Amino acid sequence: MKSMLIRNGHIVTASDQFKGDILIQDGKIAAIGRDLKVQTLETIDALGKYIFPGGIDAHIHMEVPCSDGSISAGYDTDSIAAAVGGTTTILDYVLQENGRSLEESVSRWSEKSKLSAIDYGFHLIITQANDRTFNELNLLVEQGITSFKLFMANDIAMTDKELFRFMSEFKIQGCTACIHAENKEIIATLQEQYVSQGNISPTYHAKSRPEPTEVEAINRAITLSELTGCITLIAHISTSRGLKLVQEAKDRGIPVLAETCPHYLLLSEDKYELEGHESAKYVLSPPLRNPDNFEGLWSGVLNGAVNIIASDHNGFYYSTHKQLGKEDFRKIPNGAPGIEHRFSLIYHHGMKRGMELSRFVELVSTNPAKIFGLYPQKGTIAPGSDADLILFDPEAEQVITAKNQYQKSDYTPYEQTKIQGKIDTVLLRGERIVYQGKYVGTLGKGNYLKRTIQ
Ligand SMILES: [Zn+2]
Repeated sequence: MKSMLIRNGHIVTASDQFKGDILIQDGKIAAIGRDLKVQTLETIDALGKYIFPGGIDAHIHMEVPCSDGSISAGYDTDSIAAAVGGTTTILDYVLQENGRSLEESVSRWSEKSKLSAIDYGFHLIITQANDRTFNELNLLVEQGITSFKLFMANDIAMTDKELFRFMSEFKIQGCTACIHAENKEIIATLQEQYVSQGNISPTYHAKSRPEPTEVEAINRAITLSELTGCITLIAHISTSRGLKLVQEAKDRGIPVLAETCPHYLLLSEDKYELEGHESAKYVLSPPLRNPDNFEGLWSGVLNGAVNIIASDHNGFYYSTHKQLGKEDFRKIPNGAPGIEHRFSLIYHHGMKRGMELSRFVELVSTNPAKIFGLYPQKGTIAPGSDADLILFDPEAEQVITAKNQYQKSDYTPYEQTKIQGKIDTVLLRGERIVYQGKYVGTLGKGNYLKRTIQ
């Protein structure tokens, strides 16, 4: 039996923190206690370090196709970047490919994800809201896919009728709807107006998606959740008004959940005033907002309105992918790299704002596990759980730079950000995959996570 003992750590879960030892056997946590007297093959001294459950990034995109046929970074590099950044489980948004069934899309995707360095599961982005898609939903649930993304904006947007139909079915099946909430029609109209006036730079990406276009759509998503009873996660909330609506809906007993991302908490719309095409680095949807939103979003992070912080990672290159759309901001691929720095950024800025360590764990690991059917296998430190553990040195410092990152991108939105605290060691099911901040694992060791209805 393979065994390991981690001694003297400061163990942090979503409900508790204490000093102690963790015994790992065959990839699982076997015991937790003070001064465990056991003989193991390997011992790690974690004195002075926090031990967190492995991060769960519940919103990422691998290999996103761009308009010129190129694709963003994939599992071969960015699952490693996730690991180095303290994330041991990812939930990847599989895109229903044009003309293909959900099942075909998933089985093609599974070929790529086999390479993963960490454990992974799938959500599915429904792009064809037709009968064929509708009728295969139960098949996907059997395969362990229990959450589906529905778009209210962009060219794959669903009508309210389609949203209502699919969300009603999710309620019956016990699935979760993840909603991209922006108003399609108004955004398209503003985009056309700007382009026809010759306003084609990345700045107009943000100008054509003003705050009310998110707030309106969130309100509509809440209405659909109320009418159908479907558990509804509002993805990547960027406005404090939008988050407030979600909190009010929760208070009324509507099954809605809130997700936000580091970039909405840390970056603002001044990034759209950069020289030349540079602002394209920050073209994502919804766009970065007026900094007035920070207080409302952060208070939701600290007090409970926010359920999940995810990266919405897209591994784009500035020098290639982001050059698309130089003549028309609508063609710039939407998204930015973030899988590697989510955990550290939220730790650092959370601590500065007085966040409890347990709340940090809840946001980056425990809540995503609970909401998406992975708990308690993932998302906590308890006997029987997978030994996915992060040994974190709160005294060390790091500076984020594109030069030193594992993410396969030639930039990071957080260039030169100084971070207090550093990931030292990462265990995936008891195997050391990161040591002293460096990746020491093997590609392909990640397992597919078949999720169950909660
Ligand atoms: Zn996304």
